[in-house]
Amino acid sequence: MTLHLDSEDLTTCVGCGLCLPHCPTFRVTGEEALSPRGRIAAMRAVEWEGAPVTESFVEFMSTCVQCRGCEPACPSGVRYGSLQERVRETLAASGRITPWWQRLGFAALSRHRLLLVGSSLLAVAQRLRLVPRAVGLPQLPVRRGPAVRATGTDVWIYTGCVMDAWMRGTHRSLAVVLDHLGVGYAVADGGCCGALHTHAGLGDDARRLAQRVIASMPGEAPILIDSAGCGAAMKDYGHLLGTDEARAFSARVLDAHEYLAPRVAQLTPQRHLGRVVVQDPCHLRHVQKAHGAVRTVLAMVADLSELDDDGLCCGAGGAYSALEPDLAGAMRERKVAAIGRTGCGVVASANPGCAMHLGAAGLTVRHPLDLLAEAL
Ligand code: SF4
Ligand code: SF4
Repeated sequence: MTLHLDSEDLTTCVGCGLCLPHCPTFRVTGEEALSPRGRIAAMRAVEWEGAPVTESFVEFMSTCVQCRGCEPACPSGVRYGSLQERVRETLAASGRITPWWQRLGFAALSRHRLLLVGSSLLAVAQRLRLVPRAVGLPQLPVRRGPAVRATGTDVWIYTGCVMDAWMRGTHRSLAVVLDHLGVGYAVADGGCCGALHTHAGLGDDARRLAQRVIASMPGEAPILIDSAGCGAAMKDYGHLLGTDEARAFSARVLDAHEYLAPRVAQLTPQRHLGRVVVQDPCHLRHVQKAHGAVRTVLAMVADLSELDDDGLCCGAGGAYSALEPDLAGAMRERKVAAIGRTGCGVVASANPGCAMHLGAAGLTVRHPLDLLAEAL
């Protein structure tokens, strides 16, 4: 089997091992095969030496949380995320990963009304204790409140799928902040961005969803995203689709904090929120490198504490916490311990997956935009 990998990407790794301490799966297991270097060696064996795609190979790949913490640590500039996505697409196409039930779940993400109704039913079932904890679902909201209504055309607010179904209040918080700044917003109904499909190796689905999202936000106005995973995926549409239109679209995408950071001094908060510890979602820190903007925004309303764990992944990783609960749990334990060392009672996280994963461990996790809107 060929993995259809870019040979130059594979060649770039010099095996120095500088990425290993930045890899959460290596940190919790100590296994070379579960490190970036080990995984690249396994890819090379299949791609260059014709080694078979064994169950072990599939495990090495599927245990990668795709946090991309290895990329900024790599002096050779290995594009590990791109390698991992290509491998997954090949494995998914041959039925080695992403079973039918998972594909069914992802299909629901692209049907927004179905997702809203299904989420409400699940939330009620959770209250009635009909959903086993072992399923790994976070506590879903029974009420999600009204959707944000457009006020102008200065920027687009992208509402997405899970974020809108489970954390719609954060979209309203972004709208509140923009109202205070006098910025008018249009609201997109393009649906799911396809980030989870890309992670699961469902490239064709991801490309179809990307095209739908692009069509939903015409013009040149900036596109504001309040979910780190969605923002990272949409900034990568140019690479995913390979068209000038997609590249132009991606250039308009901003994490909401990137848009707000240069404007936040115009705001006049009514209260100060005390100490808050910042948790950096991997796709905000390692991929978008927008973690500084989050701090600029939050510092307006809170005293910030920092973690001492080098930004290691918390284990949420899209559907990873449900698919690899043991590894995800071990990563979360390390994150919870690091948060505990700060002595802060409130954690700020700009990604719904991280917020729910850490919230399920009993922590109080708030989106930075919810904190900002509250202080206004
Ligand atoms: S993406 Fe994350 S889990 Fe995967 S190899 Fe890189 S650092 Fe490790
Ligand atoms: S840091 Fe880069 S070059 Fe070094 S082993 Fe890791 S991926 Fe390879």
